Amino acid sequence: MKHIEEYRDGRVARGIARAIAREARPDRGYRLMDFCGGHTHAIARHGIEDLLPSNVRMIHGPGCPVCVLPVGRIDNAIGLAKEDGAILCTYGDMLRVPGSNRTSLLTARARGADIRMVYSALDAVSIAAENPDAEVVFFAIGFETTTPPTALAIKEAERRGLENFSVFCNHVLTPAAIQNILESREVRELGTIRIDGFVGPAHVSTVIGARPYEYFAEEYQRPVVIAGFEPLDVMQAILMLGRQLNEGRYQVENQYRRAVTREGNRKAQALVAEVFELRRAFEWRGLGLVPYSALAITAAHAAFDAERRFEVPSLSVPDNKACECGAIVRGLKTPTDCKLFGTLCTPDNPMGSCMVSAEGACAAHWTFGRFREIEARPPVGQAAE
Ligand code: SF4
Repeated sequence: MKHIEEYRDGRVARGIARAIAREARPDRGYRLMDFCGGHTHAIARHGIEDLLPSNVRMIHGPGCPVCVLPVGRIDNAIGLAKEDGAILCTYGDMLRVPGSNRTSLLTARARGADIRMVYSALDAVSIAAENPDAEVVFFAIGFETTTPPTALAIKEAERRGLENFSVFCNHVLTPAAIQNILESREVRELGTIRIDGFVGPAHVSTVIGARPYEYFAEEYQRPVVIAGFEPLDVMQAILMLGRQLNEGRYQVENQYRRAVTREGNRKAQALVAEVFELRRAFEWRGLGLVPYSALAITAAHAAFDAERRFEVPSLSVPDNKACECGAIVRGLKTPTDCKLFGTLCTPDNPMGSCMVSAEGACAAHWTFGRFREIEARPPVGQAAE
């Protein structure tokens, strides 16, 4: 296949759906986590769940970087712009995520803070070069996909001798999040979340490769199939997971071979290793404090670390009590389990991060109307099996 339409061919999709239906044994369930927000989006957009048998269920995971950033870090970013007077640069998705008291970067900007949307980390470096008398902070978020560009921005600022550029680093790691979910009480003891296998991330895996998932597949006996973001990619991955489960195999398979290798992008990995190091722990929305799950800037590049330059405080701020984002990113609830979904909380008036980001489960369900069909189905915890 060469062109995008070929990955969206309805005839082929129906063929794969029939193969999934043949593979799905009626005496068991298949509960598969789509870790990545891109897959959540593809599943909602293309109505993939409607093509699956009732005993094959998709559970949305925490792979939306905007959704998992805790309120305290958003408050920190607002503080950098408001109290420290920095020009704060970040990606567009971050602007509308509510911090505490429903204050977002956008509302802070309306009140006079200099907060700018950028398309890349290097744009923030350019802003620093154009404003030598101002402190410019890049509010860096994302999984392993967006980490190399941030490392590159730091290297570029270093090369240009920019002393007014720094990074507020919030880069998080996929394998640590998967392990945290598999180690959670809900999965291991209570059984309130059952996950039989994972649709593995696409873009993240182009950087880290397939190898990091091998541990989970073997140790926790959960197959992983790395999949692209097109509907046929996702459907083929579901079929491959079903086959593995039926055959009692727990392996990492790579459906996205056109972009992902076992080793990943070694050049990007080396760049990241040069600029970043592991944090002992990092707070995730929904998952809490997760050990070794995020990156910090190394001492060798401390001059570009906004947390050292501005002494950013460690804030632990509780989520809005009515918002179920935390339970949704853990796979415990679905967007329609939230009382605010579609009433007080919509993409125009988001109450939580999952409704802001295009990759968030609530935004995907709202935008593509999945809730209308899915409302009639049993809740996640009571899938037909
Ligand atoms: S619908 Fe809104 S309030 Fe409810 S979980 Fe989603 S983002 Fe949070």
